[in-house]
Amino acid sequence: MIDRYSRQTLFFGIGKEGQKRLGDSCVVIVGCGALGTIIATTLVRAGVGKVRIIDRDFIEYHNLQRQVLFDEEDIKNQLPKAVAAERHLKKVNSSIEIEGIVADVNYTNIERFIRGADLILDGLDNFETRFLINDVSLKHKIPWIYGGAISSSGMTMTIIPGETPCFRCFHPKGPQQRDGAHLRHSRGNWTGSLHYRFSAIC
Ligand SMILES: [Zn+2]
Repeated sequence: MIDRYSRQTLFFGIGKEGQKRLGDSCVVIVGCGALGTIIATTLVRAGVGKVRIIDRDFIEYHNLQRQVLFDEEDIKNQLPKAVAAERHLKKVNSSIEIEGIVADVNYTNIERFIRGADLILDGLDNFETRFLINDVSLKHKIPWIYGGAISSSGMTMTIIPGETPCFRCFHPKGPQQRDGAHLRHSRGNWTGSLHYRFSAIC
């Protein structure tokens, strides 16, 4: 099976060791639109061992122009994006674990969805949930990559807890941080302490 990745193992930036690390990794993609579908298909083809995709929406015709995982049959079958993504991706790479979850990500469920993740990737279309990702990323020390695209522009930012500034450092006027009452496993202002530490260097 490793032969399918031969072009990656030949690449100095990955190699055999890197390919093994990809195979041992779990990545969670939150949001499966234009950006999320590209991310998901790339990671599945690259051989990331576990890919979990979370999205609440159903596929519409105007999605097909840019959301590369979906087709007209999915719309006729009225499939949610997460279900269609899982089905298509399992045909691309049957040697890895792919899980599509139909859900609206919020503070009551996000910690369950990111459990076991080595990396969280942002395929979202709203800022509220990005702040939620940021907060659980800091709490559980899981790196995440912000990604956003609109019109002809796009941007990305890698957040590594304890090493880089976080999303709130760049957007201090974002939504209120969830306190211990909202995130059951949190104690005190855990995001605040990390955030303000890094805000000094922003
Ligand atoms: Zn911060």
